[in-house]
Amino acid sequence: MCPFGIRLPILEPRVVIHEEFVKKLKTKKILIDVDVLAEIFKYFLSKSRMEAACLLRGTMAGEYLVIKDIHKCENSQGSRMHIEVEPIEFCKADKGDGYHVIGWVHSHPNMGVFMSGTDIETQLKSYQSFFPDAIAMVMDPFSKNGLEYAFFRVINEKAKKIDFDYLVRRNEGL
Ligand SMILES: [Zn+2]
Repeated sequence: MCPFGIRLPILEPRVVIHEEFVKKLKTKKILIDVDVLAEIFKYFLSKSRMEAACLLRGTMAGEYLVIKDIHKCENSQGSRMHIEVEPIEFCKADKGDGYHVIGWVHSHPNMGVFMSGTDIETQLKSYQSFFPDAIAMVMDPFSKNGLEYAFFRVINEKAKKIDFDYLVRRNEGL
């Protein structure tokens, strides 16, 4: 007890193992700027029936992984079934503005929203091994149900859907 009868909290430092810390997820949800969502949609529509890809750029804020911008991977080869993001695109996406590559988005024109075996491999190898919070967004701009999309992270080798919220400005549309 201190002289005034108030017990001061004693903060005991814990030991954090580096390997566990780097693997620990820091964000639970996605927050996507609606302007970015519109830009992704327009870009994929313009590619018609070819798969296309962009890198997602953003930052972490509390429980949110925030998507603030995209980098369009114009030179990435798309086909009906597969898309490769060239390594050079990661350098081009580094714009020194405080946002980082936090994942990728690719389209599945007319094929529905899911993570294929190749998508899961790519997600682990090219994204989550460097940044455990990285996400994959998949969009089908020509789905029968209209525009469809979802966000995924690979957990225990399975693609798991991640919840998301929209970031809008108060005076949007006025
Ligand atoms: Zn795919």
